Amino acid sequence: MALDTSSYKIPVARTVADLRATIADWRKQGLTVGLVPTMGALHDGHLSLVDLVKTKVNRCVVSIFVNPTQFAPHEDLDAYPRTEAADAEKLNRRGDLIFAPTANEMYPAGYATTINLSGVTGPLEGEARPTHFAGVATVVAKLLLQALPDVAAFGEKDWQQLQVIRRMVADLDIPVKILGGAILREADGLAMSSRNVYLSAEEREAAGQLNIILRETAAEIAAGKMISTATAESTKRIIALGFAHVDYLEVRDAASLAAFDNDKTTGGARILVAAKIGKTRLIDNMPVG
Ligand code: AMP
Repeated sequence: MALDTSSYKIPVARTVADLRATIADWRKQGLTVGLVPTMGALHDGHLSLVDLVKTKVNRCVVSIFVNPTQFAPHEDLDAYPRTEAADAEKLNRRGDLIFAPTANEMYPAGYATTINLSGVTGPLEGEARPTHFAGVATVVAKLLLQALPDVAAFGEKDWQQLQVIRRMVADLDIPVKILGGAILREADGLAMSSRNVYLSAEEREAAGQLNIILRETAAEIAAGKMISTATAESTKRIIALGFAHVDYLEVRDAASLAAFDNDKTTGGARILVAAKIGKTRLIDNMPVG
């Protein structure tokens, strides 16, 4: 069913042809262009990426596409919040165009191409969600080639995803500058996420402790504590808060996501966590030291 967009103050393109027509018009006027790929259910974290892009270029396209290929069959594709009218309202006077294609526009009959990276996609999210990054890399490559922006912004919230995209853009010579945006957090430090709406009041309270444990663990490791000791102790604390499972709590090289030898960091380290509370999976990360 077609969405009624008559109340939107920001234009919406639903096809690649319409997206390109608008961007071609901007280019003719000599304007520069940025892209913020999202799955919608926009919050201040997304909007901060739009603001970041607008400090670098004249026009910002925000794509809203709940990409089916980055969800595994048991994940929350159907339940994922879809709030396009509210998203359009939030983007008003901030973004310049919404690109909201259908799944059929992105993956028409006969579609056959997937982008697979090695290395950086292997650990952490790659182990917990083995098909996820192929879906992300493929849809982001398509969006970049559809829009051909000067810059595109991605949040540090999804740290490993940001490294995957930087790697892909470098490897495939895609002519775009990738910007990383700082993590926006709620008052108690919980990283903003479209999935936070799933949390019950009790889960929301426990979820707010995750960033605190992460920060304390990072500080302990920066002060010389063995990585394995610090992360094992903190995993127990996260479980004691009421989390059902810690998928990972690990310290990795910030760019390659490779593990450190000898249980000690040698600089450029990042601590990353993924943990489930109730039916919600939360991720977060921070620098170490
Ligand atoms: P999503 O809609 O969850 O796919 O996210 C779209 C983009 O917004 C990704 O680049 C995310 O990393 C980024 N993002 C999500 N949450 C935050 C946040 N709390 N702070 C900054 N960026 C975020």
